[in-house]
Amino acid sequence: MSFDPKKLSTDFPALNQQVNGRSLLYLDNAATSQKPQCVLDALKDFYAKDNANVHRGIHTLSMRATAAYEAARERTARFLNAASASEIIFTAGTTDGINLVAGAWGAANLRPGDIILLTEMEHHSNLVPWQMLARRTGATLRFLPIVPGDTGLLDLEALPRLLTTEVKLFAFTHVSNTLGVINPAAELCAAARRVGVTTLIDAAQSAGHMPLDVQSIGCDFLVLSGHKMCGPTGIGVLYGRQKLLDAMPPWRGGGSMISTVSYEDVQWAPAPQKFEAGTPNIADAIALAVAMDYLDAIGRDGIAAHDELLAAIAFQRLRDEVPNIRLLGPEKSRSGVISFALPGAHAHDVVTLADQDGIALRGGHHCNQPLMRKLGLPSTSRASFYLYNDESEIDRLVRSLQRIQKFFAV
Ligand code: PMP
Repeated sequence: MSFDPKKLSTDFPALNQQVNGRSLLYLDNAATSQKPQCVLDALKDFYAKDNANVHRGIHTLSMRATAAYEAARERTARFLNAASASEIIFTAGTTDGINLVAGAWGAANLRPGDIILLTEMEHHSNLVPWQMLARRTGATLRFLPIVPGDTGLLDLEALPRLLTTEVKLFAFTHVSNTLGVINPAAELCAAARRVGVTTLIDAAQSAGHMPLDVQSIGCDFLVLSGHKMCGPTGIGVLYGRQKLLDAMPPWRGGGSMISTVSYEDVQWAPAPQKFEAGTPNIADAIALAVAMDYLDAIGRDGIAAHDELLAAIAFQRLRDEVPNIRLLGPEKSRSGVISFALPGAHAHDVVTLADQDGIALRGGHHCNQPLMRKLGLPSTSRASFYLYNDESEIDRLVRSLQRIQKFFAV
């Protein structure tokens, strides 16, 4: 079946609306994706029919809710090709998952003098928790640089020099939310593994956009956000290799994460329950599993190819038809995220004027302040594509940016 974004777009009720008198053109998918009707239905159905707390109840609704919640975990394990559902922890999102690893694994494993290796393109989510952990433990941060220029590619030649024995963790983004670069995750994990370094992948921008197989990538941890892959907000996933999860202390304490408690003592439940204190986000986990079904029915290979095609066309057309535009990221083999700067125009003004044309873009530092500083830019505007965008929409984007550019030239 050929990929049909126009037909797919009819699955997304929010796309069918007018903004400022024009039909909405949603190009802010790197911030959050729209939700298909099946995901909205799953949320409503859970609350309308099965709503009960999980794990503790014996009554019918509680058993139904528990079965659906645990089925969502199984579904997630299949989505990521994890070896077992017990390697899947539901979190509130990517940020929450990284904080969990920093708080639980990091606090137990890092000592003064240890090094956490990051890259220069990390989102604040994959930087600030490590800065906080470094302050607490006496560890220090080190950064794999990007090559000079605007391609944003990682300087892979620098990696062997930086992956020294003091490095305990290498945490990197799979796809940059600003540069659109797809990093060679399996290659980076293999290099880390050769020197015994634990790896964490921030898959916020790749999950739901391309196939993800944690076993073939060979990572130790991987985190994602449901809301960027057709799922609800407030739900995310931490995948952790079983051995690491078993050895990790819990991060938060409370109900559901214990096996026995006395006034004096506590024994933890095994993973994943050990890391899910309190009532979990039941409805959103179930709806996220429905989003995974939706994406897999379309085919993640097809979504990746579609993203890449739109990005390649947009990159070329913006370069050729919007004079003096500065485009970030590589020209080819990239994700559907394109950041750009128009000389003399602040990104917030670009986004405001595009909104007048009914186009949703994003402008700012994209939670990438150190990278922006390195690139010598205060901010960029960003267009990001997903499965429901099509080639004709690039026309609209180009025309809108030409209009905006004229506006600033006057
Ligand atoms: N990492 C990357 C690469 C992202 O793009 C984002 C979201 N912009 C995050 C982490 C944080 O995700 P969340 O806000 O859903 O926790």
